[in-house]
This record gives sequence, C-alpha cells and structure tokens, in this order.
Amino acid sequence: MRKVIIAGNWKMFKTRAETLEFLQGFLPQLDTTPDDRDIVLCAPFTDLGTLSRNLHGSRIQIGAQNVHWAESGAFTGEISALMLVEVGVRYVVIGHSERRQFFGETDETVNLRLKAAQKAGLIPILCVGESKQQRDAGETEAIIFKQLEHDLIDVDQEHLIIAYEPIWAIGTGDTCASAEANRVIGLIRSKLSNPDMTIQYGGSVKPDNINEIMAQSEIDGALVGGASLDPQDFAKLVNYKV
Ligand code: PEP
Repeated sequence: MRKVIIAGNWKMFKTRAETLEFLQGFLPQLDTTPDDRDIVLCAPFTDLGTLSRNLHGSRIQIGAQNVHWAESGAFTGEISALMLVEVGVRYVVIGHSERRQFFGETDETVNLRLKAAQKAGLIPILCVGESKQQRDAGETEAIIFKQLEHDLIDVDQEHLIIAYEPIWAIGTGDTCASAEANRVIGLIRSKLSNPDMTIQYGGSVKPDNINEIMAQSEIDGALVGGASLDPQDFAKLVNYKV
C-alpha cells in the first residue's frame, strides 16, 4: 500500500538545544493530525540521540541524512547503518542532490549505501532529480531514468521510498508546478517493479503549497528542507488537508 510520509530534512541545522526547542513547539500540534500519514525527522547525526530519547511513544520516526556502506572499518568520519539503528533511526536519506553536488556522491556509491541501509533494516529515502540546465535541455526524463537504473541495482523495492527533488526547486522558493511533479512521479512509478512505492515530492514545499501538492494522484508525501526547521511551519505541513 502507498503510505503517505511527510519528512523533514534538517540538513546541517539545529544544535541539541535547538532540537529540544523545536520538539516543544511541534509535538503539541500533532494532537489532531490524522493517522493516514507518517512523520519523519531527518536530523544531523549529533541530534539523533536527542530525538530518540525525547520521542519515545510519539508517532514521529527518526531519519539520518547519510550512511556509509561498510559495516565497520577504518573510515574516519563515517557512520554505519548499524550505528544508526542502534540509536533508534528508521529512515535514511540517500543520494540527496547536495551530497551528489558537494561531496562526490555517484550513482555507484548511492547504490552501495542503499543496499547497506536495507541490510541493516533501515528504509532509505532515495533522492533523484534533474538540474535546471538538464530540464532546459529536455533531459529530465533521461537523467532520472539513468539515476533509477543505476541506483536501484539489486535494491529491494519493497523497503524503499523515492523522493523526486528537482534540483532547481530545492531551497529556491521555485516550486515545481504540482501537475508537473505529478507527471514526473508517474513516470518514475512506471519504471519501478513495485508500483505501490511511496514517492515523495521535494523542492520548496511550504504551508501555502502543500495542500495542492498532496492533492496530486501520484504524490505520496513530501521531503521538506527549509520549512521543516520551524515547528509552526512543519506542523502546518503535516496537518495538510486534501
Ligand atoms: C531538501 O532539502 O530536500 C529540500 C527539498 O529543501 P527545501 O524544502 O528547502 O527546498
């Protein structure tokens, strides 16, 4: 079944104190949130323990923003899937465009991370999407199909979420038109062996456009950067109405 998931991606924001402050403002606003949606917070590694200790019994699930593919080893600065599971993490963002752009992430390393995460029982949120230049050149479909083809080799599609994130819409305020996001996500779905996969849209999702995005037939949720940092804004997103 296609599950609706609203996930926040905090990127490199929030100290421990700021995380606690966020929860104080956010949690009371979930009292009337319908049960038909899951809520995930993908936080920096240093906040995961804080979230885990303070979210016992809550409906919020915890996500990380990256994971290494080895189980352990001499990889200074890296974190394994088992380490994430141990602190209560359930989801992990893999292949975010910021990692592809700034940290040398390739389809090959994305594929390795996806398999390692799944082996440890984590559910990856795989990000795919085209740049402005690629869209303008009419390459959107080709780029996304290539990412899917390489990223998903030997990956279990039953325990996976995909986020369609056009790079030009991330952090720019330039949201992809909801009908266009719906079209691309429909194309992504047509390439999957599991057509019931949860596929999110990400890219400048805000309280004033979430209802329209969530009304689209192919879109099963949102991956949200900027608007997930403010407890009032993120509460409006998880309390979207269709
Ligand atoms: C993201 O970080 O994945 C994202 C979509 O960011 P924003 O919502 O700020 O565009």
